[in-house]
Amino acid sequence: MSALVFYLYSFLLFTTFIILGRYYLFLAIPSLVFSALVTSYVVLTRSKISLNVVASVLETDFREALEFTSSPFFIRYILISLSIIMSPYVLHRLMSLLKIAPLRKLQVRPLFILICLLTLTGFHHIDTSGNERRTINAAGINNYFPVREMITLKRILFEASWVINQYQNMSIPLDSEQNTGNDTSVILVIGEAARKSSMGLYGSKYDTTPYLSKLANESQENFVHMSQMVSASATTRVSVPSMISMSSAARFSDVAHYPSIYRMANTAGVETVYLASKAKNTFFESVINAIMQDNKVIIYNDNGSEYDGDVLDYLPEIINDGSSSQLITFQLAGSHYKYDARYPPSHDCFEPAIEEAFYLNSIRYTDFVLSRLAQNVNQTEKPYVIIYTSDHGEYVNDEGDGIFGHGFKQFVKNEVEVPLVFIFNDAFAKKYQELVDVVRLHSQIPVSHDNVSHTVLGLLGISDSKYYSSSYDITSEAFLEHERFIVDMNMKDVPIELYSFRQSPLSNSERTEIKLKPHCSG
Ligand SMILES: [Zn+2]
Repeated sequence: MSALVFYLYSFLLFTTFIILGRYYLFLAIPSLVFSALVTSYVVLTRSKISLNVVASVLETDFREALEFTSSPFFIRYILISLSIIMSPYVLHRLMSLLKIAPLRKLQVRPLFILICLLTLTGFHHIDTSGNERRTINAAGINNYFPVREMITLKRILFEASWVINQYQNMSIPLDSEQNTGNDTSVILVIGEAARKSSMGLYGSKYDTTPYLSKLANESQENFVHMSQMVSASATTRVSVPSMISMSSAARFSDVAHYPSIYRMANTAGVETVYLASKAKNTFFESVINAIMQDNKVIIYNDNGSEYDGDVLDYLPEIINDGSSSQLITFQLAGSHYKYDARYPPSHDCFEPAIEEAFYLNSIRYTDFVLSRLAQNVNQTEKPYVIIYTSDHGEYVNDEGDGIFGHGFKQFVKNEVEVPLVFIFNDAFAKKYQELVDVVRLHSQIPVSHDNVSHTVLGLLGISDSKYYSSSYDITSEAFLEHERFIVDMNMKDVPIELYSFRQSPLSNSERTEIKLKPHCSG
């Protein structure tokens, strides 16, 4: 319905400007293009374009953008946009050929403008409903298309840079201290678009986590996985700050009023390292990047190598740098579209060659990267804990509409149900087995990204008078279940039980059967 409304709007606009004269046509073209881009999105996803979609696009980097342009979604998007842009022109040509062109302009102008306004009001009422309509009418013109969309765009462009500016200039007095005798190091592995339901460890029928599943079955003293973990949202730009800042995910601008775990670790004398399997430069500065600059050592893997595993080459030197306690953050490219660019050809394990199989390959490759990471920390006598989670899940053609990605429309559960696993190295398991048991005791309790920062600090023995809360720390005996929130695509926080997830997944029989290739099994 929205699509039709937008289309009629474009047509009307075009007609108005044709009547007003050809110079006004130049004014109509930007509106028409804008309208076509919005409409095309609605046609493809059956969902309105949101603040987070546009913001995510702006905060992407060059390689990511290039990969996205080759996706079937993007190609369809462009084709539909072009058709919409051209169609008013085609229609008008048709009308003049059939001699039903608009009447002479001087005669109709005042009446025509009135009709236009009335029609627009009608369109608007069809496009909105109930509460939305009431609030929009109360708020006036700012909430009408296309002013509404333009304000959203302005908000994205300026809000992020405003928050970043505030954050960088923030000086919060911190009294963070590390408990004497705590020698633990934490490696926080932030996965990308890895959903729980595609992981063997979490019951997927595909063998995508041979390493983690083996740990779960055979090395209980070294491994715990949380069974009910959700992300704060379905976009990186909201979820990652919620993990590494002491602010809750719910209000984006709060980030500028709370310290990151890195500032707290720095104050407490813990070494902070950021390893990123991605490029440093994005089109627009992101809040995540601004926070990550709090780390003492920062390494971006933008030297041309493309896989998460390559970043591990930096690890031995970092682990053996002589510091007694470290907080290492390793941000993966993980399972971000384009899936088949995320792993080396030797890790191509699923057939046939379709996107769904590529996605499984990327999950399996992350499992391999985690196994190598664990091998590295098992060679040291220092206690290490690897925490692996994902920034959000993924929509893998779940409704059979050919869409792959996250946060394009109202979420499905797969976009927020993510893994949270703890891998304890042998030195840690030997010294702190009671702590491993505490985590296991809590493993069935519902948790979210809001628990990550407190849990990291808890493991490092960092506490302070203001920000750390043991009731959010999964490793603490004082840990409690808290209400969990989902930040929706318009940045509104909703308790998870109240969020209405889309529920129309394809059944297994409607899906192409995927198999593990022989050279990968066993
Ligand atoms: Zn992400």
